Amino acid sequence: MSTVLVTGGSRGIGRACCLAFARAGYDVAFCFSQDEAGAAETARLVRQTGAGVQSFRCDVTDEAQVEAMFAQVFGLRVLVNNAGQDEYCLLQEQSLQRFRRVLDVNATGAFLCMRAAAPKLMRAGGSVVNVGSVWGEHGASCEGAYSAAKAALSGLTRAAAKEWGPAGVRVNAVSCGMIGTAMNERFSPEERAAFVQGLALAREGSAEEIAAAVLFLAHSRYITGQILPVDGGAHLR
Ligand code: NDP
Repeated sequence: MSTVLVTGGSRGIGRACCLAFARAGYDVAFCFSQDEAGAAETARLVRQTGAGVQSFRCDVTDEAQVEAMFAQVFGLRVLVNNAGQDEYCLLQEQSLQRFRRVLDVNATGAFLCMRAAAPKLMRAGGSVVNVGSVWGEHGASCEGAYSAAKAALSGLTRAAAKEWGPAGVRVNAVSCGMIGTAMNERFSPEERAAFVQGLALAREGSAEEIAAAVLFLAHSRYITGQILPVDGGAHLR
């Protein structure tokens, strides 16, 4: 049986990825850092599909916790680096501590997980899918730390694809547009409507639409080093 490990699986896109892989026949391991109730619900939903499930409380920025988690996961074939945090803040008001935290969660956490997963993925001929953002490619006003972190994640994706391709491991990313999850609840309905108004597809995406693209990249045996926009056309603006 193949296992997928999804970081940040306690809600939103991470939960949708857990369920998409479970329905595709994988056993599922996932982690979260705080949201215990959400994690219990994800585990329940995965179990309902008949797939095996392991849930870890693991902060992806904590090297020891990440190493301990991967030591307990067997049959690893796909790593989905989804855990993320955003911060809405003017650059000149951003504290160094918060700037570093956003980089740590979105980029350093992915690095730690990829490093810990590498021996298992190389043995299995597995793959990595990183969950990035359109802001990593274009930059967003008031999201400097987040834009920088997702740009770093794109660089890491391309570098690892070159380095690990010869070892049989593919590394790709999805670049998400505005997706209807808790992450965007800080925006008012009017602000969200204004954002999607200018999109070619004129609506928010769903977590399930991102999960479908993640599964596609995990299974596409001749695609590596790609940053796939799944954004309703946001990259066209
Ligand atoms: P949510 O806030 O709904 O979910 C984030 C998930 O990450 C939660 O499960 C959270 O769990 C987990 N998480 C956060 N910090 C850590 C940490 N340090 N260690 C482990 N897990 C952590 O957001 P989304 O589902 O929307 O976002 C998922 C990914 O998609 C993120 O990488 C985000 O940047 C990206 N994305 C989302 C977009 C959107 O519009 N929603 C747009 C572009 C990209 P817990 O709270 O328990 O730690």
